[in-house]
Amino acid sequence: MNKREFGDCFNEECALIGVWNHQEAANLAYLGLYSQQHRGQEGAGIVSYNDDNCKLYIHKGIGLVSEVFDDFDFQRLPGRNAIGHVRYSTAGDCRLAEVQPFQAEISNGRMALAQNGNLINNAELRSGLIKEGAIFTSTSDTESILHLIARKAQKNPPVKAVIEALPSIKGAYSLLILFNDRLIAARDPNGLRPLVLGEINGSYVLASETCAFDLIGATFVRDIEPGEIVEISGSKDIASHFPFGKSKGTPCIFEYVYFSRPDSTWNGKNVYQARKKMGHELAKESPIEADIVVPVPDSGVAAAIGFSEESGIPFEMGLIRNHYVGRTFIEPQQSIRDFGVKIKHNANKQILNGKRVVVVDDSIVRGTTTKKLIKMFRAAGAKEIHVRITAPPTKGSCFYGIDTPTQEQLIAHQMSVEEIKEYIDADSLAYLSIDGLYRAVNSEKGSMCDACFTKNYPIGVPSSCTVE
Ligand code: AMP
Repeated sequence: MNKREFGDCFNEECALIGVWNHQEAANLAYLGLYSQQHRGQEGAGIVSYNDDNCKLYIHKGIGLVSEVFDDFDFQRLPGRNAIGHVRYSTAGDCRLAEVQPFQAEISNGRMALAQNGNLINNAELRSGLIKEGAIFTSTSDTESILHLIARKAQKNPPVKAVIEALPSIKGAYSLLILFNDRLIAARDPNGLRPLVLGEINGSYVLASETCAFDLIGATFVRDIEPGEIVEISGSKDIASHFPFGKSKGTPCIFEYVYFSRPDSTWNGKNVYQARKKMGHELAKESPIEADIVVPVPDSGVAAAIGFSEESGIPFEMGLIRNHYVGRTFIEPQQSIRDFGVKIKHNANKQILNGKRVVVVDDSIVRGTTTKKLIKMFRAAGAKEIHVRITAPPTKGSCFYGIDTPTQEQLIAHQMSVEEIKEYIDADSLAYLSIDGLYRAVNSEKGSMCDACFTKNYPIGVPSSCTVE
């Protein structure tokens, strides 16, 4: 999907990578970001720390990882420790100043910080800090965290400074913080966004998703737990702190539905298998007679395989995705109808012509994509089109780090399922139930954050945003 417009509420999608004590730290961080590009495409950055001269080095830019680090000489990011970040924000400008990691000089040396998530009390934090004299150079909530830690660091060693700063921040955050002599990883008490620990040649790595480990040849060790602060120092010393106590938290269920890469595993579950199970559950809940099951690639593929297995209806790639679509296109002057959708997806006419089709996708957000795809399917000769969505209707905006439009722009907030069916011009439409979704991820109902479907926000919403 291309960028969506957003309201006042700030939202980001991001990925993190951290490497501790490895001779090619920055190069591994780059590859780790490369494999997590799906989590953010607007900017990328890496900070490395070089023990020899006690200096932090930084390279960041606007664009894809491959663009920011095109022809890059990694000797410009020396040192055995590094953290990196990719970002996709929908608020504010896409300025270099917004691209993470952020770095600053604080009482006990230099520090760099990268965050995946979104704070819900940032407006209050930021205005309080500004009143106290703090200077902000970006609009990012990550900068507030940097200031809070810097203040606490005046009287405390790094990990204590982090432990003392975190209770002031409310929201979803997975953090990597690089100090001169240690790397600290933290996950908010609800564990909303993922963060995993791995090992490579006796060194530690951290990432948002395990797919980053696979590319660099690291092995998965474990998830960082909700509310855990992990401190890595020396050659391989690791300590764990739970200043908020231990809890299972409420990890984000939408990571399984759409956001994470299917080859990633977190919270004990492989994303591909979870999606396939969603397809099975959906076929059980909302069966239909049809000739073929067609996914909306890529996110609908695993679920469509599950639907096909459960229903016995053959799986076919009736829709082909162009994987090389950039962020801007030059459209001919005589504009082409539905160009925006067609450039990304094309109906496979030979497959669809004369068929009763089950179309499987993960979500209907505003409804524009599905409506245009159905039109395309009909033009390709499909006889009947039955839409099956592998999650409940998306009714609530996410304030915890997934880019969703405001509630008013969500079609399921405005219309009933029957009305959506009419609007998108489908012959039938069914969503997976919330119970079915929990069965698919093998978790107890309510044990994860499902606010985008239920509007039960486990840690509340920003004071400037209202939820009906
Ligand atoms: P829409 O046209 O707004 O209804 O968008 C529906 C499409 O957006 C589906 O094909 C989803 O795979 C995709 N989608 C769902 N959630 C997101 C998200 N947070 N960011 C980008 N795309 C999304």
